[in-house]
Amino acid sequence: MQQARAWLERASRVTVLAGAGLSAESGIPTFRGTGGLWRQFRAEELATPQAFARDPKLVWEWYDWRRVRIAQAGPNPGHRALAELEKKIPAFALVTQNVDGLEEQAGCHSVIRLHGDIWILRCLACGRERRDRTAPLPVLPPACSCGGLERPGVVWFGEPLPNAAWSAAEDAAAGAEVMLVVGTSVVVYPAAGLVWNARQSGAKLIEINLEETALSPEADCSLRGKAGEILPRLLL
Ligand code: NAD
Repeated sequence: MQQARAWLERASRVTVLAGAGLSAESGIPTFRGTGGLWRQFRAEELATPQAFARDPKLVWEWYDWRRVRIAQAGPNPGHRALAELEKKIPAFALVTQNVDGLEEQAGCHSVIRLHGDIWILRCLACGRERRDRTAPLPVLPPACSCGGLERPGVVWFGEPLPNAAWSAAEDAAAGAEVMLVVGTSVVVYPAAGLVWNARQSGAKLIEINLEETALSPEADCSLRGKAGEILPRLLL
């Protein structure tokens, strides 16, 4: 912890890669691990274009359930610690795989959203996007004003990441002196690959996770525990 704190104090370029574990203490279930199941389905069975094509109502029921959970939640001390860190670091980026928007709610500005935004609805017919925080949604699946079917504005397994977000994330990873890897299982690619880009460019890798991950043996410092407890202590 002491060593990691010293690296952060000296750094002027810090990139955070965040995953579902960052929001776990806000009461939002992660995909893997305890609470990762919804009804009898795994996330990987629902967060795909194929699942949506097969049964849009079922997929929307799951997203609607998640939207309700997120609407009831708020940022936790982990999110707030990152917002504080951002104020101190000249070149800071928070690359997030989360879709809940709690980073911005905590006051973070430099957020790079790799997997989209659960509050955006996108029409499959005309492509129009709209932000709608109604939760639960009154009708599932929701429809656009053109009559087309809307989908959640998130990136599903097997879909490409948004170009602009991905290139900003690659730059932030390659330019970092320190990368903080928080609450991610580091198994969802290409996002997980950013840690190796950062390592190649000489960044110190500091991991914060409840459990051991594929990154743990490679990290310069691996801190085991809850993000909401470790981040505030680390960034004192
Ligand atoms: P994941 O579910 O695969 O892994 C979560 C990781 O967080 C695990 O390694 C777990 O050990 C760790 N963890 C759990 N609670 C923690 C805590 N309190 N403190 C620190 N670590 C904790 O999540 P992922 O790696 O982000 O990848 C899966 C995909 O899930 C992403 O694409 C993301 O879009 C999506 N997702 C997003 C949300 C959200 O927006 N809040 C929630 C679930 C899943």
